[in-house]
Amino acid sequence: MTNLKGKAALVTGSTSGIGLGIARQLAGQGADLMLNGFGDTGYIAELCQSLSAEFGVRVAHNGADMSKPEEIEAMVAATEAAYGRLDVLVNNAGIQHVAPVDAFPVERWDAVIAINLSAVFHGTRAALPGMKARGWGRVINIASVHGLVASVNKSAYVAAKHGVIGLTKVTALELAETNITCNAICPGWVLTPLVQKQIDALAASRDLSVEEAGRELLSEKQPSKSFVTPEQLGELALFLCSEAAGNMRGAALTMDGGWTAQ
Ligand code: NAD
Repeated sequence: MTNLKGKAALVTGSTSGIGLGIARQLAGQGADLMLNGFGDTGYIAELCQSLSAEFGVRVAHNGADMSKPEEIEAMVAATEAAYGRLDVLVNNAGIQHVAPVDAFPVERWDAVIAINLSAVFHGTRAALPGMKARGWGRVINIASVHGLVASVNKSAYVAAKHGVIGLTKVTALELAETNITCNAICPGWVLTPLVQKQIDALAASRDLSVEEAGRELLSEKQPSKSFVTPEQLGELALFLCSEAAGNMRGAALTMDGGWTAQ
């Protein structure tokens, strides 16, 4: 068990999917939470309240747009102001756009690089001084199998995720003599809204049912033929927060149903 009582965690992009799964696990071990991400105001207020009631921790939300460096800096400062500390930073927010390189909209390229890569730099840069001052910290970057291998039509995403793994290594090396670690998690397919959009597009383009398209998507790349779950990824994030993981530094950990073993 990783005891996070008295610690504070900021999980970017945690109103949905993997980020929410990780936030739940951190709260389950006692961490106060700063959530981030888009969504309906009523939904977000209810989410904060229900997580707080379920786990007995403080939960707040900051709506920083991860494509805006100044909003990311302000969110880190707001977390430190709310809880007096920021111990665990999970850089998770991400978007996808699918198109061949020569038809890739420049605006989508810029958005994917900003949210999936540059935001990791800005969040880390803002969080490290406090972690260094307190002498402990965990930076967990949600990369992807696409940080290790490529797929067609995902140039911006693959470039960003390879960049995240490079940034993870540099951050880990710079912190190697401290109690602050930085590692990356590389999930395969996880059934979240980000992937549901790709399943729906596949179903429409191939005249398949949504279930058939989901199976098709898995069988193409993921030997387990089952989706990785946000709960499984949350457990891995918890391990990275433990003292047992104190000398894991700059690792890119796959949880991908065998995708990258092929
Ligand atoms: P998701 O679409 O379910 O959630 C994305 C979250 O990011 C949401 O909370 C959303 O509001 C937030 N977000 C998006 N743009 C934002 C912005 N500009 N500012 C602030 N928040 C923003 O996606 P997910 O599948 O849970 O993905 C989470 C992370 O996991 C991403 O980095 C993604 O690349 C990575 N990942 C996902 C899969 C998968 O199969 N789903 C696989 C590998 C890696």
